[in-house]
Amino acid sequence: VPEGPEVETIRRTLEPQLLGRSLHEPWTSGLKLRSNQNEGALKALEHKPIKALGRRGKLMWIDFAGDMSLLVRLGMTGRLYVKNRAEPTESHTHFRAHLDRGELELRFVDPRRFGDLQVVDAARKQHEINRIGPDPLSWKEEEKLALVARVRASDRTIKDILLDQSVLAGVGNIYASESLFAARIHPQARGCQLSKPRIGKLLEHTAAVLELAVRHNGTTFSNYVDGAGKKGDNLNFVNVFQRTGEPCYVCQKPIRRAVQSGRSTFYCMKCQKCT
Ligand SMILES: [Zn+2]
Repeated sequence: VPEGPEVETIRRTLEPQLLGRSLHEPWTSGLKLRSNQNEGALKALEHKPIKALGRRGKLMWIDFAGDMSLLVRLGMTGRLYVKNRAEPTESHTHFRAHLDRGELELRFVDPRRFGDLQVVDAARKQHEINRIGPDPLSWKEEEKLALVARVRASDRTIKDILLDQSVLAGVGNIYASESLFAARIHPQARGCQLSKPRIGKLLEHTAAVLELAVRHNGTTFSNYVDGAGKKGDNLNFVNVFQRTGEPCYVCQKPIRRAVQSGRSTFYCMKCQKCT
């Protein structure tokens, strides 16, 4: 499942290929995605130059001239990339459009169809962005301070808080486990059990973990690829994620796996503490 760093990697690789260009002859599979838009909605973007590519958390957007945007949600298995028109279309392709009538095509592929492409105006785009919490890859100091207070006031487990996209943006299962290990905090600690300095440190580690992942072009462990179709290599740099039974790099005790809110959590019993 793509998290913030994977979406940021895709945004960065797509940006130079898309800026200033426009979409032509959009095609859709007609199969239902989340917001179920059809060719008609996407036609509204035709011939409008692309002005910017933005992102917050896992939500990406492509801004077009005329205050129209395309919101891109990758969901679990979505991929958005540029390919030569001559290359065969993969199965589960749901969107294709020529770029400037040239050799290249923008394509959206999504086998499980939890992803989405949605044409929106500026107000709708802002509404969607406002539903997402601050992003550790770009947050402001005051946003971070407000977050420390919010976590401290919560009796939810810290892992669940990290995964809540309305609290902070872009952290999924991999980076939640990695951030908690980096901060030596047990995933089942409750927000209210942690001191403000520890929460502050955790948020710094979270930002650092995400920045490192972006430098490694994201973490590929299933089918994620960047906007040029390449895999990320961050999985070579994780400390706990999917390392069940392997020795902790700090204390040599085996890494444990627990199921928390229906998802796997990886942690070190010795290094990570509740308080
Ligand atoms: Zn350890």
